[in-house]
Amino acid sequence: MADFISSLKSKFDDSTVLTDAQDMSKYVTDWPGKMTGKALAVVRPTSTEDVAAMVKLAFETGTPIVPQGGNTSVAGGSIPDDSGAAIVLSLERMNKILEISPAAMTMTVEAGCVLETLQNTVEEQDLFFPLNFGAKGSCMIGGNLATNAGGQNVVRYGNTRELCLGIEAVLPDGRIINLLSGLRKDNTGYDLRDLFIGSEGTLGVITAATMKLFHLPKARATSYAVVPDISRGLELLNRAQAETGGAVEAFELIPRVFLELVQKHAPQHHIPFENIPELCVLIEIAATSDAEAVVGEDGVLPISAKLEKILESGFEDGLVLDAVIASSEAQRREMWEMREGALEVVTAAGTRVGFDISLPLDQVHGFVDEMTQRAEAIMPNLKMCHMGHLGDGNLHYSVFPPEGESEAFLANADAIKTAVYGSISDFGGSFSAEHGIGTTKLYAMTNYKDPVALAVMQQIKATLDPKGIMNPGKLLP
Ligand SMILES: Cc1cc2nc3c(=O)[nH]c(=O)nc-3n(C[C@H](O)[C@H](O)[C@H](O)COP(=O)(O)OP(=O)(O)OC[C@H]3O[C@@H](n4cnc5c(N)ncnc54)[C@H](O)[C@@H]3O)c2cc1C
Repeated sequence: MADFISSLKSKFDDSTVLTDAQDMSKYVTDWPGKMTGKALAVVRPTSTEDVAAMVKLAFETGTPIVPQGGNTSVAGGSIPDDSGAAIVLSLERMNKILEISPAAMTMTVEAGCVLETLQNTVEEQDLFFPLNFGAKGSCMIGGNLATNAGGQNVVRYGNTRELCLGIEAVLPDGRIINLLSGLRKDNTGYDLRDLFIGSEGTLGVITAATMKLFHLPKARATSYAVVPDISRGLELLNRAQAETGGAVEAFELIPRVFLELVQKHAPQHHIPFENIPELCVLIEIAATSDAEAVVGEDGVLPISAKLEKILESGFEDGLVLDAVIASSEAQRREMWEMREGALEVVTAAGTRVGFDISLPLDQVHGFVDEMTQRAEAIMPNLKMCHMGHLGDGNLHYSVFPPEGESEAFLANADAIKTAVYGSISDFGGSFSAEHGIGTTKLYAMTNYKDPVALAVMQQIKATLDPKGIMNPGKLLP
């Protein structure tokens, strides 16, 4: 270990190799602040060649590497264990935008670019990068790729995998693999790019990527609509998709339990209904054409009129019980702030068992009903919060204890997990929708992933990373 550190220090300066405990502390603690590890050093390369040299040195000495972007992982994937044997390889100083091509509608960027910086930079050129979620001010594109992040716009644009055209990565032995291409068609064998997306740092270090861009919406119409139940919420979604030619940008499910937590823990957010509804959806549609995005002579914004019409027809058919449409950008922001602050709100609520699950859209309602019954049999009066990205079938499902019963609840936590994972399996869902496996879902990976798929993953890992130095203990049991 001493040799490894002195070799690193002989090649790189003090701002690149951190070994002081104080300097390393923010890199070894996870976002929720619940897990802390120890690192041999934190290295902060500024080029792909630096990454390659560092990884080669780690390969030769068998030193484990934990790649890190914005360290916003909520699955424990981005921090080292407490052995102190691993280095954290932070991409934060590799934050250059290498190219934006409005003609090809692509951007090529280094892995350490912060998501929000990318969004803002392309917006200056009337372009749109649609990946979006609460951690956008800190998370980085390399981390987004490594976790195949989702967020609120997946219903229209897909998750990070679908937004990526090419990747550059450093393999566990220090070789640079250049798959950095803007091609939309390239049938030249196995798609190795896709191996790195969602690999959570276990197969190599992503150093750059070419990502798709879209036309910047010129206007958006946003509403909170109260729906009678999840199935009718989905009918509303499909109606909106048909009426807009697939222009639904977001369709988020928000139950009463969450709104009550907002009242209690985040009163700064404005709940747009006088009486808290049982269930509502946050729906947003967008327009890129002037025909829909410019206020007409009648003073009406066509895209808003369209949303109003959809909601009105939903009201007539019993799909919508009440609705509030944002009448200004400020009101729209206010609506989104409550949604984007969701993780902070549920975290502030204290003891809970949380899940990031996905289901086929037509199974979401059945799962939620089934879980309500199963949970009641485990412990009466549990509070179930089934909020999430309903448009793509992803629920951030949390189970909270009845008031004052945290201890008894924790004793039942394993039974709750087993019930949720079991139900997910029965309904054809996945136990990890967008946050990844990290360390927190290894149990589910062992017990609920198809065993053959898991064995093939282990074989791929052993081939690319024979010494097992890339993010050991993460993703694969
Ligand atoms: C408030 C909040 C809201 C969130 N909302 C969402 C959401 O809606 N949808 C969603 O999908 N996620 C969400 N997340 C989770 C998290 O932000 C994402 O997983 C994000 O993509 C992680 O990016 P990061 O740069 O912070 O990566 P990190 O946390 O640093 O790392 C995550 C994983 O990727 C690996 N990794 C990081 N960079 C690289 C690289 N360059 N090469 C190889 N491996 C690498 C790490 O080793 C680790 O396993 C949220 C998190 C927070 C805190």
